[in-house]
Amino acid sequence: MKIVVTGGAGFIGSNFIRYMLSQHPHDEFINVDLLTYAGNSGNLMEVQTNPQYRFVKADIRDKAAVEPLFKEGIDAVVNFAAESHVDRSILQPDLFVMTNVIGTQTLLDLSRQYGVSKFVQVSTDEVYGTLGATGLFTEESPVQPNSPYSASKAGADLLVRAYYETFGLPINITRCSNNYGPYQFPEKLIPLIIYNAVHNKPLPVYGDGLNVRDWLYVEDHCRAIDLVLRRGVDGEIYNIGGHNERSNLQVIRTILTELNKPESLIQHIEDRPGHDRRYAINADKIRKELGWTPQYNYESGIRATIRWYQDNIAWLEQVLTPLGEQGD
Ligand code: NAD
Repeated sequence: MKIVVTGGAGFIGSNFIRYMLSQHPHDEFINVDLLTYAGNSGNLMEVQTNPQYRFVKADIRDKAAVEPLFKEGIDAVVNFAAESHVDRSILQPDLFVMTNVIGTQTLLDLSRQYGVSKFVQVSTDEVYGTLGATGLFTEESPVQPNSPYSASKAGADLLVRAYYETFGLPINITRCSNNYGPYQFPEKLIPLIIYNAVHNKPLPVYGDGLNVRDWLYVEDHCRAIDLVLRRGVDGEIYNIGGHNERSNLQVIRTILTELNKPESLIQHIEDRPGHDRRYAINADKIRKELGWTPQYNYESGIRATIRWYQDNIAWLEQVLTPLGEQGD
């Protein structure tokens, strides 16, 4: 298969390309990425000379820039490219609509025009909005996004669905919970807290810190997308999650314990507007229909992740943003 992976220089995309090259050495991967602040071609340094891999710097909104790749003849698109940080979406919603909605629509049009045999839209559980203290999101849960980020991802999902219903484009949508692992940009909770804790800086925590996320190790997400790409039933949505519900404070305390740092570093700050209280995923469908099971448990995955950032503090320094807040 020849696969266009958009956003492959970001956190999950770069882990996905590394995973796919290790699992499918005969497939070809074209990484299409604009290299925004969140993209870093250094995330894939070790595969740059791999003949199965190619990097193309391009904007998914720019049809003329992306079309030559489709003209070459490709089998599939896996669309990771997105503006992904909720805090930034509150400051600049228009950019999120342009990249996440218009960018996806540009790729859908090209996929239709050139007869691509699978389009996988990498979406998020955030499109479902928020849960109370109990319950899980299923694929049938209503789409009720609460932030400009999740609304733009939901908009993209609806277009992807419409291209299946209207044009018969073979699509899948995956909706995964929060990922953690190597190469995550340090504006997101886990790498930001590790970075600040290592430097004995205050650890900003929104509100009471009791917002709950369902954490999944990034490689388990990559394995799920690979399964959907190869075996997903056209038109279907697959939820992905690890049943690892933890509050932000629980995650932060684990990091402090591992790094042997004091809880006095925790600093509660004013809550983010529209901050979803709890996400949790029912992943029965992908488990039963595609045989996916997560291979990392939270305890070992988070410890391996903390160690990775400790060993790669230079990477964190190099990509660091001035935003300096924490969130999804
Ligand atoms: P990220 O911000 O780390 O990476 C996004 C990548 O997209 C970057 O490399 C960036 O340069 C690229 N990009 C942005 N705009 C582009 C454009 N116009 N054209 C081409 N490339 C562009 O994001 P991530 O955390 O790796 O998330 C990847 C995808 O997975 C996103 O679609 C996100 O919604 C989804 N997702 C993320 C999580 C999570 O926990 N991080 C969970 C579920 C779903």
